[in-house]
Amino acid sequence: MTLVRPADPATIAAAAQALRSGRLVAFPTETVYGLGGDARSPVAVAAIYATKKRPSRNPLIVHVPDLSAAAILARITPLAERLAAAFWPGPLTLVLPLADDTPLAPQVTAGGATVALRAPAHPVARALLAACACPLAAPSANRSGSVSPTRAAHVAVDLALDPRMSPEGAPLAMILDGGPCQVGVESTVLDLSGPHPRLLRPGGVTVEALAAVLGETPGRAALFPARRPTTATARPDGTAPLPSPGLLRSHYAPDRPVRLNAESTAPDEALLGFAGTPGATLDLSPAGDLEEAARNLFAMLRALDRPPYTAIAVAPLPTTGLGATLNDRLARAAAPREAGDPPDMHD
Ligand code: AMP
Ligand code: MG
Repeated sequence: MTLVRPADPATIAAAAQALRSGRLVAFPTETVYGLGGDARSPVAVAAIYATKKRPSRNPLIVHVPDLSAAAILARITPLAERLAAAFWPGPLTLVLPLADDTPLAPQVTAGGATVALRAPAHPVARALLAACACPLAAPSANRSGSVSPTRAAHVAVDLALDPRMSPEGAPLAMILDGGPCQVGVESTVLDLSGPHPRLLRPGGVTVEALAAVLGETPGRAALFPARRPTTATARPDGTAPLPSPGLLRSHYAPDRPVRLNAESTAPDEALLGFAGTPGATLDLSPAGDLEEAARNLFAMLRALDRPPYTAIAVAPLPTTGLGATLNDRLARAAAPREAGDPPDMHD
């Protein structure tokens, strides 16, 4: 059996069976490919962290079909209801307080008291959720620290080349191929667990669209939040779940250095352009369409992250709408891996 399989109904049924037995399945969502496992199963959740090499302090997003499924896992606030009505299914993740009797494995939330929930719109993701009838913990299906996968082949490259990931008996049962992701950047993460909504990660739903529903622009959490645990969130080992590692500076990084707002390039540098940048090696959207640029961003960063190029220069991009999300991801890709920044801080 091949690891990558077309997402037809029979294969989705087999994938659901694998999920129910505690194994993992990578599947397409409209944002990026996810690495899914039963969010109630400590074994499946541990396999997700191990497969991604993700630090256990970094909580996972849980995918549900709709708000009623979300209400079994978390306390749904009136604001969450309004936002879900406006944006679900779609690329918006809401961080909410756990329900008292939540069936989620504690490892999903990294031992924290909140959970990040999302209802994906992709038909394959929805069919899989319906078939397995369980909440799916599903972070992006890349190795921790690297660029998110927007094609099934990216997942195979990122995860499957590890010899321990051969299909027989390995945690990852299969990668469902649903073609290229239509949004192409990760979900927007909005924290509703405090007194005011806080944007933890810009993403596929723009800040402008959120503001239209909220009636105000959500506050933005500071980059690099304090790492010292508060007594409210500290775990017995003295560490705390990260408030949102999506906030960390170096994240989504290709191997090669990335340089932003480039006006010209060095001889060995690739140039990632936008809206017809002269001399671009690749152009995110020759027509200047930000949705097209978002769809192309990660695949093009991967395509340029190889010889003969030794670095990637990126032309200036618009800063509003999805442009804010693109600039956010590129700023993280360009950020230096700081000496004092432990390797486990990257996803
Ligand atoms: P990924 O799982 O790779 O799509 O990334 C999920 C993002 O949501 C990461 O930045 C996580 O740190 C963040 N996240 C997940 N759960 C929570 C939570 N309970 N509170 C805050 N952020 C979260
Ligand atoms: Mg990720």
